[in-house]
Amino acid sequence: MAITQASLQAIKAAPLSTVVEALGGKLKRVGHEFVTQCLWHEDTNPSLTINDQKGFCFCHVCREGGDILDYVQKRNGMNMRDAAEVVASIHGIVLETNDEDSEQAKLRRIEISKNLAKVEKTQEIFRNNWKSPEAEPFRAIWTGRFLTTEASREFEIGYSFSGEFASRITIPIRDYKGRLVGWTGRATKKDQLAKYKNSADSNIFHKKMLIFNEPRGLEAAREAGCLVFVEGHLDVISMWQAGIRNAVAMQGTGAPDASTLKRLARSVKNFVLCFDGDAGGQKAAEQFISVAGPMASAGDININIVTLPDGKDPDEIIRDGEDLYSYIAAAPSWLDWIIDTWASSLDKENASMITEVERRLRQLIDKLQSKALRAHYIDKASRILAKSDKEAEKISKQWGNSEIQQKAKTWTPRSPHDVRLAAERRLIRIYIHRPEKREELRPLVENISNPALIWLWERLKDLEGLSTIDLTPHSVMAVVAVSEPHYMQQLRTLIRPNVPIDDDEGVLLHLRGILDAG
Ligand SMILES: [Zn+2]
Repeated sequence: MAITQASLQAIKAAPLSTVVEALGGKLKRVGHEFVTQCLWHEDTNPSLTINDQKGFCFCHVCREGGDILDYVQKRNGMNMRDAAEVVASIHGIVLETNDEDSEQAKLRRIEISKNLAKVEKTQEIFRNNWKSPEAEPFRAIWTGRFLTTEASREFEIGYSFSGEFASRITIPIRDYKGRLVGWTGRATKKDQLAKYKNSADSNIFHKKMLIFNEPRGLEAAREAGCLVFVEGHLDVISMWQAGIRNAVAMQGTGAPDASTLKRLARSVKNFVLCFDGDAGGQKAAEQFISVAGPMASAGDININIVTLPDGKDPDEIIRDGEDLYSYIAAAPSWLDWIIDTWASSLDKENASMITEVERRLRQLIDKLQSKALRAHYIDKASRILAKSDKEAEKISKQWGNSEIQQKAKTWTPRSPHDVRLAAERRLIRIYIHRPEKREELRPLVENISNPALIWLWERLKDLEGLSTIDLTPHSVMAVVAVSEPHYMQQLRTLIRPNVPIDDDEGVLLHLRGILDAG
């Protein structure tokens, strides 16, 4: 179901500033533009310039930015399709889709909306049950845990007298879009088989992909700079009540799957695992790392792991009047946590154990993308494996040498985005330097996508329209010299009036290949 070109154009033409505000961003007007907080770097001083006329945003600090859909995708951690729906609903644009849906897809969508409506309706019943006099003993379980009426209202807590969740307190589960899709039911009686019970998996309830409190928790995580994972839903609610609102819990047991983590990582890079301080909590952390470790090694996310004392869970820490936040703030990185965990049970007299731990450490540490981090952890691991400082130095040296040789062999290709940007820059440079090629190049230049280059292209067209000034490298330099600083930085190295350019047919063919490929 692709969105039509016309709908996409309507969306891209809609004012970005309105969307920024609707999604909770603060705007400051500067001339005919706005500035707001950048989403691509940790921005304390609003650095993202929004230009509604040109339909894009650009950060002069980290040089990221894009159009209205890029902004919403980044802001809400969504794919393009979902972002388009958000813009459409804010601006009242009707989204048209290209192709006729297959009969099956249509039926599936009808089925999904039926189920969603059914869940909403049942939720209303659960909520009313909760407020009824008959539910008083069960509300007492809630208040007995020091949970407030405000928290029960915020999390839409309910009660079920019969059916699937009979005699259970119901905690509604919303998906990442905020749609109510099911419940977790907590037992109220000792003889109930499972303490917690989930809605059965269905076309709206996919346990592995659901994160309890995701919409609310992510919103707060963007402010706080990190997302805290806990084991229990009641931990999340208890933390919310204590003012720690960036917490979520996994819906299923074990780790969330990689696609779920990637979805979260579009909004927040720092994950903190705050699992129970017992063997189960340690196992949960290990499972989480087995899925998220590769993303952390690549530098896409950071994971820190809290160790809570004496088998306590976050809710108990809060109820004991301890400061849970200080545990979160002091959490070591996942690699330190693993190394320390292994080190604590390492017998330095046991040679085969040392060999095995070294092998596992190498597997982890050699995958780190950052050279500085690798050096740091090679040093740390060597000291743990060795019996003396001297031996540690030897291990570290050997390890460092072998990994330098390995690294020399690997070559990272440039991303398609970088390749395209380089091609667009070369194209504009040829356009400026070679008047005789301009007619031929014009259609290609019309398709450039980099905001700074689009800005320059608009100025070039202005220049061409003037009869008093010729478009030459020097006249373009003069235009760039008075542009805003963030454009100037990127453009002044582009024009270089006195440096000869390379524009034979081979180069043009190469550029055409890259730019036509989209
Ligand atoms: Zn930025």
